[in-house]
Amino acid sequence: MDVIVGGGIVGLSIAWRMARAGRAVTVVDPAPASGASYAAAGMLAPVSEVTYTEAPLLRLGMASLRRWPSFAAELAQDAGLTGRSDDALATAGGISDGTARSGDGDPGTTAEVAGLGAFGGLEIGDAARHGLDLRADGTLDVAFGADDLAALDELAAFMDKLGLPVERLTGRECRRLEPMLAPSVRGGLLAPGDAWVDPRRVTAALLAALERLRVPLVRARAAGLLRDEDGRVIGVRLEPPTGAPGTPREESEPPSELRAERVVLAAGAWSGELAEVPVRPVKGQIMRLRSPQPLLSRCVRGTVHGSYVYLVPRGDGELVVGATQEELGFDTRVTAGGLYELLRDARELVPGVTELEIADVVAGLRPGTPDNLPIIGPSGTPGLVLATGHYRGGVLLAPLTAALVLGDAGDSSGLGDLGGSGDFGGLGDLGGS
Ligand code: FAD
Repeated sequence: MDVIVGGGIVGLSIAWRMARAGRAVTVVDPAPASGASYAAAGMLAPVSEVTYTEAPLLRLGMASLRRWPSFAAELAQDAGLTGRSDDALATAGGISDGTARSGDGDPGTTAEVAGLGAFGGLEIGDAARHGLDLRADGTLDVAFGADDLAALDELAAFMDKLGLPVERLTGRECRRLEPMLAPSVRGGLLAPGDAWVDPRRVTAALLAALERLRVPLVRARAAGLLRDEDGRVIGVRLEPPTGAPGTPREESEPPSELRAERVVLAAGAWSGELAEVPVRPVKGQIMRLRSPQPLLSRCVRGTVHGSYVYLVPRGDGELVVGATQEELGFDTRVTAGGLYELLRDARELVPGVTELEIADVVAGLRPGTPDNLPIIGPSGTPGLVLATGHYRGGVLLAPLTAALVLGDAGDSSGLGDLGGSGDFGGLGDLGGS
């Protein structure tokens, strides 16, 4: 049996794929689906999130985005969500094999992402669309000032070099797409293939699917790893549940330890408490606004007063506004200043947001790594597999992470040779165990 420590989107996805493959697995988490995955906006946006230094991350993101439609369709089916899931299967029309244009060989340019090919949008089935709110209508990056426009032009040229389809738009064209945008928007960059999903629906579906597959979920905190005399990890020690002294033992009280063939560490920002991994918490405050009618039809992002803000529309009219990036350790307080900045910047993009009702505010902890890349694969300690450090992209990367941990990413992963990074091998370990 394998034990997965952590029931966020990463751990639950791994557990579900393992159970589906007929493998015995148990999930350990005192509060499943309550971590960063609960806070996340759910953008599946490898193209619009690309930065000049993150070509390997782009490659991972594209490979995972391609997996999302079938992952979501199968999940919707296993979770028993309504909708037609039989025809939901999703061709990720997306990324054809290995047909990127020949590049000039610069690191970080076409040569590095060769294998991505052209991206033409995802096809999403009904169950995934309605059950998980998975949509693939693109992201619009907007600019206000001359500096912002120049930065967008540069980014467009960089993306073009990578063979990524983006469209440079005038302010008027942006407003034609999104009439609620501020008149001061002077231009934009459309990434038509980017997608998004509701992470809360995804984790709820994962929990439902695990229950239907009879995967045990132990609601306890893993307090440490069990090792044999050779240092091999052979299970986890569990923290006794906290309860008032004298409280009668419940029949479902968790055991004090769990033995396992492999332990998969998927504890997000808390992973460093159990093993030596370079993962740190990066706080993100985010809010959900309620709108009687959808204000936007696609994700909109922009940089305002030097800070970056995005708006993600949900199918039910909710509008997600995020997110701060704060290095404050394990602090999850929602602050007036954080919310003020989000609303101030969101209003510059879409003035109508201030009319909306606040539905929810929350702060989550992204599992950050020194190079912003996730740490996936064997740890170097026998018996311990790592699936952590997904930073800003754990929702996007969940399907690929699960496939890599299962060892079934196959040749079609589109990953090619990503090279290693960091002491833990980082991407060098991507082959899974
Ligand atoms: P988590 O969801 O944090 O789950 C970790 C789990 O481990 C928790 O349930 C916790 O209870 C459990 N745990 C901790 N310690 C222990 C222990 N000792 N024993 C047992 N269990 C333990 N990503 C995207 O792809 N797109 C986005 O648009 C996006 N937006 C974001 C917006 C915000 C504001 C934030 C904060 C994050 C965002 N992210 C986004 C990032 C994404 O949320 C994370 O990368 C992802 O959720 C990480 O998933 P995880 O399962 O590794 O961690």
